[in-house]
Amino acid sequence: MSQQTNDFTKWYIETIQKADLMDYTPVRGCIAFKPDGYEIWEHIQEEMDRRFKETGHRNAYFPMLIPESFFQKEKEHVEGFSPELPWVTEAAGEKLEERLALRPTSETMIGYLYSHWIKSYRDLPVLINQWANVFRWEKKTLPFIRTSEFLWQEGHTAHENEEDARKETMQMLNIYKDVVENVLAIPVYDGQKTPSERFAGAVDTYSIEAMMKDGKAVQAGTSHYLGTKFAEAFNIKYLNRENKHVYVHTTSWGTSTRLIGSVIMVHGDEKGLVLPPKIAPTQVILIPVGPWKKTPAIIEKLEEIRKALKEKGIRVRLDDSDQSPGFKFNEWELKGVPVRIELGPRDLENNQVILKARDEDEKITVSIESVVEAVVNELETMQKRLYEKAKAFRDANSHTHIDTLDQLKEHIATCEKEGKIAGWVLGGWCGDDACEAKVKEETKFTSRNIPFNPPMKKHTCITCGKEAKYTVWFARAY
Ligand code: AMP
Ligand code: ZN
Repeated sequence: MSQQTNDFTKWYIETIQKADLMDYTPVRGCIAFKPDGYEIWEHIQEEMDRRFKETGHRNAYFPMLIPESFFQKEKEHVEGFSPELPWVTEAAGEKLEERLALRPTSETMIGYLYSHWIKSYRDLPVLINQWANVFRWEKKTLPFIRTSEFLWQEGHTAHENEEDARKETMQMLNIYKDVVENVLAIPVYDGQKTPSERFAGAVDTYSIEAMMKDGKAVQAGTSHYLGTKFAEAFNIKYLNRENKHVYVHTTSWGTSTRLIGSVIMVHGDEKGLVLPPKIAPTQVILIPVGPWKKTPAIIEKLEEIRKALKEKGIRVRLDDSDQSPGFKFNEWELKGVPVRIELGPRDLENNQVILKARDEDEKITVSIESVVEAVVNELETMQKRLYEKAKAFRDANSHTHIDTLDQLKEHIATCEKEGKIAGWVLGGWCGDDACEAKVKEETKFTSRNIPFNPPMKKHTCITCGKEAKYTVWFARAY
C-alpha cells in the first residue's frame, strides 16, 4: 500500500481497487461500480430516500435525453453546462433534426413538464425526487469524486411563494447534513456558496463541505433556491388564491456517488478502507483461527454466532476459506469491515471470542453468551467514534488566524516545505468578486462556502483588507 501521507491520490486509487469497489472502463471518466461499491451507494440511498419520503417527497423518473432548445431557454444554465454536455446527434442511421444532450441535471426537462402539470395553487407544492445517472464531461476525473457519468438524486420542487421555496431549500440541506454526519460519520460545514460558485441558473446555492484526510475540501451536497428563473424560462404559471396567473418558485437539490469517495477519503487509513457501520456492506466478519479445521466445533459455534447476528439485522459473513487467518485479517481490513470476530480452539475452551474494531488497535475479549450484545454495542460506538475522529482531524486542520493573502501564502509555503496539510482557512471577504478571484489565482484556494456557524467571525477582507461582509472557508477542493 502507498502511504496516505506521501501520495494521497495514489493511496486513494489503490485503496478503492484493493477493496474491489470499482473498475475503470474504456470510456473516459466512466467507471463501473462493483457490488461492494454499489452496495455502499444502496445504503446511502436507503437513508436519503427514507428522509425524503418522511418530508413528503415522492420519486419519479424523467428522460435521459434533453432537446438542445431546452437548454437555450435559461441563459446562465446553458452557459454553465454547455462545455460539459455529450450529445446524441444520430439515431437509427439518420441525423436528428435537433441534437439531444445526455442530461447533466434535469431542471429543463422537468421545468417543461411542470408547466403542463401545474395549473392552480391547489397543485402546489410539487415535491418530486429522481434517482438517476447524469453526465458531465469533466476534464479531470477521479473515481467517485468526479466522474463523467455519475449516479445521484436530484430533487425538484415547485412552490407558491419565495418563503415556502426557501424553507424547502434549507430543509433539504439539513437532511443532507443529517445523513452525511450521522450515517457517513463525516462532519460538515453548511453554508451559502458565493456568487462565483453558484449553480448555473440559481438565485442562491447552499452547500455542505467536508474535509478529506489530505486537508482538501469536497462539496458533498448542494441545495438551490431557483427563484422564478426556471418558471420564467419554461412558463410555469399557476392561478393563485387571488385568481391571478403568477410564476411558481422552484428549488433543486442533489447528492451523488461522490459521497462514496468522501467516505473513503475521510475514514480510510494506511491499511485501506474504513467504513462507517451504517453503510458497510459487511458489518461483521467471523474468522476461525488456530488449528480450527481439526476442531469442527469452532465452525459450528461461528455458524451459531452468524445466525444470531443475522437475526438482529446485522450484515455478517463467515470466512471459512482455506487462506491463513493473517491473510484473511488483511483482506477484510482492506475492505473496511467494521468489526472482526476471531474464534480459535483456546477461545472455545474459555468460552470466549476476540473482537477487533477496524479503527482501533486493541482487541477485546468477549464471552460467547454476550457476543451479540457486544457487537451491536461496538457498531454503535464505532459509528460515533469515526465521526469524532473525523471532527477532531478537521478542527485541527482548520485555521482561523490567517488574516491576509500574504499570511495565507506563507502558511501554504510552510506546509509544503514541512510536508504538512494546509487544510482550510477561515477568511474575511468584502463581497467583491475580484478579491475572491485573487485568492484563487495566487493560492489555488477557492471559497468553499460562507458557513452559517463559523468558529469565529472575521472582520477584514483577506485580499483588500477592507471591512469584511462575510466569513468564508477557503481551501483547495476536489
Ligand atoms: P449540482 O447539480 O452541480 O449542484 O451538483 C449536485 C451534487 O452532485 C454536487 O454537490 C456534487 O456533490 C455532485 N457532483 C457534481 N459534479 C459531479 C461529478 N462530476 N461527479 C460526481 N459528483 C458530482
Ligand atoms: Zn476585498
